[in-house]
Amino acid sequence: MERKKVIIIGSGPAGYTAAIYAARANLSPLLFEGFFSGPAGGQLMTTTEVENYPGFPNGVTGPELMEAMKQQALRFGTKILTEDVESVDLSTRPFVVKGSRNAFVADSLIIATGATAKRLDIPGTRDGEFWQKGVTACAVCDGAMPIFRGKELYVIGGGDTAVEEAIFLTKYGSKVYIVHRRDTLRASKIMARHAMENAKIEILWNHVLKSVEGDQIVTGVTLENLKTQKEVKREAAGVFFAIGHNPNTVFLSGQLETDPQGYLLVKPGTTLTKIPGVFAAGDVQDKVYRQAVSAAGSGCMAALDAERFLSTQGF
Ligand SMILES: Cc1cc2nc3c(=O)[nH]c(=O)nc-3n(C[C@H](O)[C@H](O)[C@H](O)COP(=O)(O)OP(=O)(O)OC[C@H]3O[C@@H](n4cnc5c(N)ncnc54)[C@H](O)[C@@H]3O)c2cc1C
Repeated sequence: MERKKVIIIGSGPAGYTAAIYAARANLSPLLFEGFFSGPAGGQLMTTTEVENYPGFPNGVTGPELMEAMKQQALRFGTKILTEDVESVDLSTRPFVVKGSRNAFVADSLIIATGATAKRLDIPGTRDGEFWQKGVTACAVCDGAMPIFRGKELYVIGGGDTAVEEAIFLTKYGSKVYIVHRRDTLRASKIMARHAMENAKIEILWNHVLKSVEGDQIVTGVTLENLKTQKEVKREAAGVFFAIGHNPNTVFLSGQLETDPQGYLLVKPGTTLTKIPGVFAAGDVQDKVYRQAVSAAGSGCMAALDAERFLSTQGF
């Protein structure tokens, strides 16, 4: 099997940034950009305007931004394979990395496979319906869009994330409803209190989302009251899923430590996992910030950490 100094798994902002830094450090990185695991380029390939990535005063589309990052990684000599990594063996050195078509060994590994926002499969919310036309899974990313300003917005969920997103959205919406299937929030007590004390937030207890309606963009939702089984239609401009994320780590088969939600654990302030030479960057290890710029920042850190590791090993 061909031996590589650095293999990067994942092609979002974290993976491409790690590739740019590793390539410029003459480490000749190999990057698996994925295939069935999701669109090459990562989560931003599923969005239109990105307004908060520094350097683009007029915004940039997600696919344009990711193509630019890819070209920058290629320019410095990154080799990119369009396939998924199916398994890794971290118990031997060099590490073994098996893709769907090719296998390699690697002296260091950067895992940047991201996380997938959970969505409910509800009529009107799917791709080709109103997904990204008023239905989204990221309030911080999309909340400032003009279509949500001064309108009634619905957050689906009942944990801390749902409450945080609802509070954030009160800056833009006229009213924010939290749709929660139970009669108490799962959010921490303090977060729940913040939500209940906020005049712009109303919690719809014992309710579920049944469908989303609209024309070009979302105009309404149908909710069901689980106590009365009654359905009600309401005006709405936005539906925000806030029911958590799945970090993409199945191919690791439990070889690295995770927190209870499955996020990879790294030494605080670094990208070091518990296995020397294996680094984690981006959303796969970050349940707090989950932004393109923070993912790119940790991709840079991972490449610098890998470079330092390799030099201490005499490479
Ligand atoms: C709809 C939407 C809109 C958003 N808008 C914004 C915004 O406006 N601004 C902002 O800052 N952030 C935004 N975000 C968040 C941002 O996209 C993420 O924080 C960022 O993409 C995380 O980057 P990442 O590199 O960690 O992972 P990701 O972007 O998730 O990329 C991970 C990549 O790894 C690949 N992969 C997974 N498993 C494997 C495997 N086994 N083998 C090979 N490859 C694999 C995936 O296919 C994917 O390409 C948005 C997110 C979404 C969902």
